[in-house]
Amino acid sequence: MKILFVSILYCLLLFKGSAQKPDATIDILHYNFSVKLNDSTDKIEGRAKIKFKVIRETNSITLNLIKEGSDKKGMIVTSILEEKQPISYQHNDHLLKVSFDKNLPAGTEKEIEVIYSGIPKDGLVIGYNKYKRRGFFADHWPDRARHWLPCVDHPADKATLDFFITAPEHFQVVANGVQVEEISLGNGQKLTHYSETTPLPTKVMTMGAADFAVQLAGMVDCIPVYSWIYPEDKDKGFFDYGQATEILPFYIKNVGAYPYKKLANVQSKTRFGGLENAGAIFYSEGSVTGTRKSESLLAHEIAHQWFGDMATEKEWAHIWLSEGFATYMTILYMENSYGKDTATKMLLQSRAQTIAFSKQRSRPIVDSSVTNYMELLNPNSYQKAGWVLHMLRLQLGDSTFWKSVRTYYARYSGKNANTEDLQKVFEEISGTNLSQFFKQWFYTPGHPKLEIAQTYDATKKLLTLTITQQQETAFDFPLQIQLNGGAEDGVITKSLPVKNKQTVISIPMMEKPLKIVIDPNVRLLFEESATR
Ligand SMILES: [Zn+2]
Repeated sequence: MKILFVSILYCLLLFKGSAQKPDATIDILHYNFSVKLNDSTDKIEGRAKIKFKVIRETNSITLNLIKEGSDKKGMIVTSILEEKQPISYQHNDHLLKVSFDKNLPAGTEKEIEVIYSGIPKDGLVIGYNKYKRRGFFADHWPDRARHWLPCVDHPADKATLDFFITAPEHFQVVANGVQVEEISLGNGQKLTHYSETTPLPTKVMTMGAADFAVQLAGMVDCIPVYSWIYPEDKDKGFFDYGQATEILPFYIKNVGAYPYKKLANVQSKTRFGGLENAGAIFYSEGSVTGTRKSESLLAHEIAHQWFGDMATEKEWAHIWLSEGFATYMTILYMENSYGKDTATKMLLQSRAQTIAFSKQRSRPIVDSSVTNYMELLNPNSYQKAGWVLHMLRLQLGDSTFWKSVRTYYARYSGKNANTEDLQKVFEEISGTNLSQFFKQWFYTPGHPKLEIAQTYDATKKLLTLTITQQQETAFDFPLQIQLNGGAEDGVITKSLPVKNKQTVISIPMMEKPLKIVIDPNVRLLFEESATR
């Protein structure tokens, strides 16, 4: 039994090391970020203890940290210590290369401490909110943590972390994980310490310091859910963000246990509508209205706690594994709460957005040509990928779809995955070969553009439909059509297999149909170019 135990342990260790950048030399294990904030200047003072493990023998490691530029924004490193002794480093542009006096063999674990200061140009939003109150909000997505924190700024190097924030006493500090302590330092300053024990990618590590009103909105499965709202907006905000307690159970039931120790929904100065920081979601100031109009925004960011934060894309090109899932999970949550018509309306809107975007840019969902990651925040990653998940659900059926989603999440939770990893899970659970489905929807630009022509032969009492795919690559899909006939035929709904550029199908009908409705149940991502 001992041997078995050892081999299981070995597997777990192997697994832990697998969530890595493909070319990584090191794996960051833990960050301790100590940062001093203040009221009179935007300059921050930082000390970052970074514990890492060597994957490939090396005598140097490279971290990301933006160096101070001619605009006097950016970070200046004062020293880097190893066991309290200074060691050598080079800091250029956004790279901090740290050198050791001898080779570090694979498997070595080390801790260094980077001492630095500066005015962040980005990544930490410092300034006044709409009520003229000063605050600090980390805003890292996609790779902007490097503006103020030395780190390996890539979604495939996850690490646990602690934030030790020293700030003027009036600030309340929120961050990932749980608050370990909050102590007055006696000089008008306060130290707040948060600890996160689940490894996170840097894009969703966060810290916010501002004047807040805080409410415990409720407990969901023993997880405390808090609302952090600007004091002036507290009544409206507690009402709006309180909905999180209604949203969480849907994902817990369908996907898996909530992965973090608390959830704080925070009104903030994020540049996005919402940013899915792990266990401390930041929403834009305008998300608080007192009318609960941000329900789908909350549902989207909360879905990310599973998809994006815990099961994370290995490379940016697979960002849809975060955004497509968050988009579709929101539609499913809304369907569950408000019924099918609400979901159908959202799907029709998503389809229109996808079609409009395809006219601007002809790229597949998995798009490794993009190097400015902000450009990945486009309808392909969100609406189109959400639609592809919808078609996958219709093709496989609800029970297989959810079982596949749960298996994917369980397998990659705390780790990283790409589109092929997801495909394998869906194929394994459904017993279906999905290579054509994945190829056409994820790796091929565009969608079916259909021209449908009809002729009716009154003698043979036969309707003939000619379906032409006008886009470049032919797709393979089932097409539902509804024929509204006269008294004898009634309403006929048929699912037609379409695979070639041109498909000709004959349907016996007593009379020429009065009307033909293509995709009456909103089951296909397509564009109707003409129906004659
Ligand atoms: Zn999102």
